[in-house]
Amino acid sequence: MSVHFEALTAHLWAAKCRGYAMNTGILHDAAHATLIDPALLPDEVEDIAAFCEAQQLKVETVVITHHHWDHVLGAARFPGAHVVTHQSYVAQTALDLEHTRRSIQGYYGAEGVAADTPFSPPMPDQTVDRIIGLMVGDMRVQLFHTPGHARDHLSVYDAESAFLWAGDLLSDLEIPFVSDRLDAFERTLGMFAAMQVDLLVPGHGNLTRDHAEIRRRIDADRSYLSDLRTRIEAVVLAGGSVQDATAACADMVFRSPGANSEAHIMNVEQVFLECGGTTQFNLLLGWSREL
Ligand SMILES: [Zn+2]
Repeated sequence: MSVHFEALTAHLWAAKCRGYAMNTGILHDAAHATLIDPALLPDEVEDIAAFCEAQQLKVETVVITHHHWDHVLGAARFPGAHVVTHQSYVAQTALDLEHTRRSIQGYYGAEGVAADTPFSPPMPDQTVDRIIGLMVGDMRVQLFHTPGHARDHLSVYDAESAFLWAGDLLSDLEIPFVSDRLDAFERTLGMFAAMQVDLLVPGHGNLTRDHAEIRRRIDADRSYLSDLRTRIEAVVLAGGSVQDATAACADMVFRSPGANSEAHIMNVEQVFLECGGTTQFNLLLGWSREL
């Protein structure tokens, strides 16, 4: 098997894929199982299916934390399972479909995986607005809306063991990537800061049980976003351009700058628009993000 499985609690396995330090969750109780973001390559998804079979677990539910391409690849392997997403997942999936297909094609091409037909995103049987309880056997976990990285982003929380499956948030490898909105991201991190978390598992990167490390990740991400907001608001107030915003944010400190500099630039562009900045593009089209 190429996937590494690790038992994290009595009811949670994590499966680590080869690419993007990607984690898949396997929640289980008795013979019932719920998968979180089954991924990534077809042989890895097969490994996860075989693992569940060997553990005599029936995959009844697949939770998709958000619509980004690396989180939607494995659900189709479990056709009998209910798919659960946020309620804005369907619209976000439609908006990003071409990008999703191109990204998958690129990844499969690089990994030598043949794909004959264009990717069809899994569609939900059940959706979440703000929060729902999800039963896995007799265990109840919470799925709750955590937007900011993606508008349809969900995280999973188990109050009993205080584990948080964060999705594409609180990674030790990535910076906060604001592909939705900064204000939503700030609220989400504020919510995390107020929660009791004894085990944090990000969708990409390393899990931790260290309270100091969990606090460091939350604080570092809040501080990065706050700095981003302060600098860009000043540029917008002064009537500056997106290039000025990029220059104003050029010396910001964030984790793994080599790997995350592109995401940082994209964050600047996103936040510049959200803060009311005007680009030539939206001047010409009379378009602004607020519309
Ligand atoms: Zn994502």
